[in-house]
Amino acid sequence: MKIVRFASDGRSRYGILDGAIIRAMAASPFRSLRPAGDTFKLKDVRLLAPCKPSKIVAAGVNYRSHAQEMGSKLPSAPIIFLKPPTAVIGPEDGIIYPASSKQLDYEGELGVVIGKVARNVPRERARDFVLGYTCLNDVTARDLQRLDGQWTRAKGFDTFCPIGPCIETELDDTSSPVETYVNGRLVQKGNTADLVFGVPELVSFASQVMTLLPGDVIATGTPGGIGPMQAGDTVEVRISPIGSLRNHVVRG
Ligand code: MG
Repeated sequence: MKIVRFASDGRSRYGILDGAIIRAMAASPFRSLRPAGDTFKLKDVRLLAPCKPSKIVAAGVNYRSHAQEMGSKLPSAPIIFLKPPTAVIGPEDGIIYPASSKQLDYEGELGVVIGKVARNVPRERARDFVLGYTCLNDVTARDLQRLDGQWTRAKGFDTFCPIGPCIETELDDTSSPVETYVNGRLVQKGNTADLVFGVPELVSFASQVMTLLPGDVIATGTPGGIGPMQAGDTVEVRISPIGSLRNHVVRG
């Protein structure tokens, strides 16, 4: 099932995407998946970020290929950091290139959407707390990341967390291809089979630190192949069967 959030007639609603049709939902998907009865054509609405996280918990250095290109050692436990909810944007929204940075990088990632309150969740039960999966771009001002040492500024600017286009409830998180394209050219090609810490480990680990709320998103880390974007570029994160998350880089 593909869950979307969309704007139509000046209001936002959740719905279930079925081909070119959206069936509106009666409530938030975190409460019930019941349809409301009315339908919309996908072409007539604007898709929004598919959820409104209270926080984005992101894993750093979680693919061997990315650790190599960064000259980093593989961590013995997950390295996590936070992106603020104000960084979230939806499909086709603009990523603002900040004036304070000279190197803006894409990081295509699988995003995990938490479905219910999760605290001290054991690894074996972690998937019970997952509603589904989305495409995520962990946009990073690489020069500021190097300069600061810690990552809050470099990864926390407004618009630095595109998510979407939907929450796919059926996906094998142990073997999903993650691809990133810049202006249609393939620049990253990874697979979640190569994650150092898999989805159950990340959900469990994060939930030992902080309570995860419905709609919170876990960014699982990026594979090798990171690189810069310029103002005017179109960047796309593709994960089958979720779909394609496309955004445009604009000068701040
Ligand atoms: Mg990342």
